[in-house]
Amino acid sequence: MSTPTAAKSMDEIVALCKRRGFIFPASEIYGGINGFWDYGPLGVELKNNLRDAWWHDMVRCPPAGPDGEQLEIVGLDSAIIQNPKVWEASGHVGGFNDPMVDDKETKQRFRADHLQGFFLDVTPDKPSKTAASGHTIPLCTVVASNPSEAVAILIEQPKLIKPWRIQKAVPHRKDQIRVALKDQDGTSGFGIVFAIEREFLEHAPNEIPSPFTANTGALTPPRQFNLMFETWYGAIKSDEYKTYLRPETAQGLFLNYKNILDTMRVKVPFGIAQIGKAFRNEVNPRNFIYRSREFEQMEMEWFCRPEDAPKWFEFWQQQRLSWWKSLGLSDDNLTIRQHDEDELSHYAQGGAGTVDIEYRFPFTHPGFAELEGIAHRTDFDLKAHQEHARVKLEYFDQERNKRYIPHVVEPAAGLTRGVLALICEAYTPDPDRPSKVFLRFHPRLAPIQAAVFPLVAKNDMPQQAENLYQQLRKKYATRFDIKQSIGKRYARMDESGTPFCFTIDGQTLADQTVTVRDRDDCSQQRIGIAQVAGFLADRMGG
Ligand code: ATP
Repeated sequence: MSTPTAAKSMDEIVALCKRRGFIFPASEIYGGINGFWDYGPLGVELKNNLRDAWWHDMVRCPPAGPDGEQLEIVGLDSAIIQNPKVWEASGHVGGFNDPMVDDKETKQRFRADHLQGFFLDVTPDKPSKTAASGHTIPLCTVVASNPSEAVAILIEQPKLIKPWRIQKAVPHRKDQIRVALKDQDGTSGFGIVFAIEREFLEHAPNEIPSPFTANTGALTPPRQFNLMFETWYGAIKSDEYKTYLRPETAQGLFLNYKNILDTMRVKVPFGIAQIGKAFRNEVNPRNFIYRSREFEQMEMEWFCRPEDAPKWFEFWQQQRLSWWKSLGLSDDNLTIRQHDEDELSHYAQGGAGTVDIEYRFPFTHPGFAELEGIAHRTDFDLKAHQEHARVKLEYFDQERNKRYIPHVVEPAAGLTRGVLALICEAYTPDPDRPSKVFLRFHPRLAPIQAAVFPLVAKNDMPQQAENLYQQLRKKYATRFDIKQSIGKRYARMDESGTPFCFTIDGQTLADQTVTVRDRDDCSQQRIGIAQVAGFLADRMGG
């Protein structure tokens, strides 16, 4: 069943994550550090469960191929810090740049392609102004990665577009949103929200109001800024020993392609996969954990014959989309977006393309934002490493007696971004229950999978509950809770997203049955205490 994210508030989601121990700001007692997060006891369980589900479904038990064939994908865990030449070969030293704009007054910085403008379109008496450069001047600007996110900000902060208030938003031309407006006197108007053109920012930054103060004359033209974190290995801090924290896990997979070929008896097509931390000195880390400076990725490089790449590109798109659905993300909140030719990364030029699997996060509603990218990286990376490292990285196809450099199709997902999508999807307000909200996680991913309660701390109930708890915790993440009323205990479990609570009561002592309370509909049924483990196993799926 689909859960519309429209009504969900990010502030409430962030507050619940803190209150229930999912996610905390890093270094919080020192005032935090922008773009870094700590995963608390429930957050780390959820993240590990998502990580394990990916590893299981990609490495240990990958899907069958398009012709029903068994696919081979092997795992890897490569170093975060590699020889700096890796990042020259991969294009990150020269090309991993975002054009940045600074606000000279507030010293804040943002990505040039993240500046969205609000323009008055048709209003009875307030026509839009035109700049000397010939561009229409926006009434205000906001920093957002796309126009739908900008509209959400303008709805939340109407003072930015005073005296107007947004009544309705509809998609307009490509990448534009048209909004219907009203002021306090009931006068109607229309506005358009779209990204400020690069050319306008380059030639007339002085005419554009700052997204932070609305002042004109404060913005600089865009300047390049490399996103890699620099560090030094060894005791000497000179350029010779400078290297970088990896900005993606992918390069470790290319670096070990030859080792895997030489040791694992794999044959093209095959995959190498890894999960791990990546670091990007993002200019505007924002939207909770969505864009962080330290995050985790789950990436797989699928090495195939060049002529088969389009087939695999199609295959992995479908597989990855259905995987996210299998974890409970609803159809309505997922979409696949094809990249335009001018958006393609350096490694994907001339390939079958790049698509993003996008999720409708509350902060982009009604629009979507990237959750996973699937790219045909061609032979770009292996060729680049072959050239820079001067090591042959060809594959010898014995059947066809042919040497070639395989092409690569890469599904690259964000693990931490996936955690955010799961939390947003699971978050379900419900005024009728004491907690007023519950988290509807798939039982396979829930940080606590079962809770065991003695109804009261009397007779033999605590002992019986303890026995069941000791049995279940060997296999499932289980909580034992004896404190406070049963209603309060259910409420705590609802907010933690625990799918099943088992209660030992007076009847248990008589007939060895327990009540099972279902998180989603609050229904209760009795089952034999001996059936509890089987009951849970049936519901874990996956
Ligand atoms: P974006 O356009 O959002 O900056 P990207 O296209 O640069 O992302 P990729 O290089 O394709 O991202 O990385 C693959 C995946 O890694 C993304 O789909 C996303 O889930 C995750 N990811 C990338 N950057 C971040 C970040 N700063 N914080 C959290 N997750 C990220």
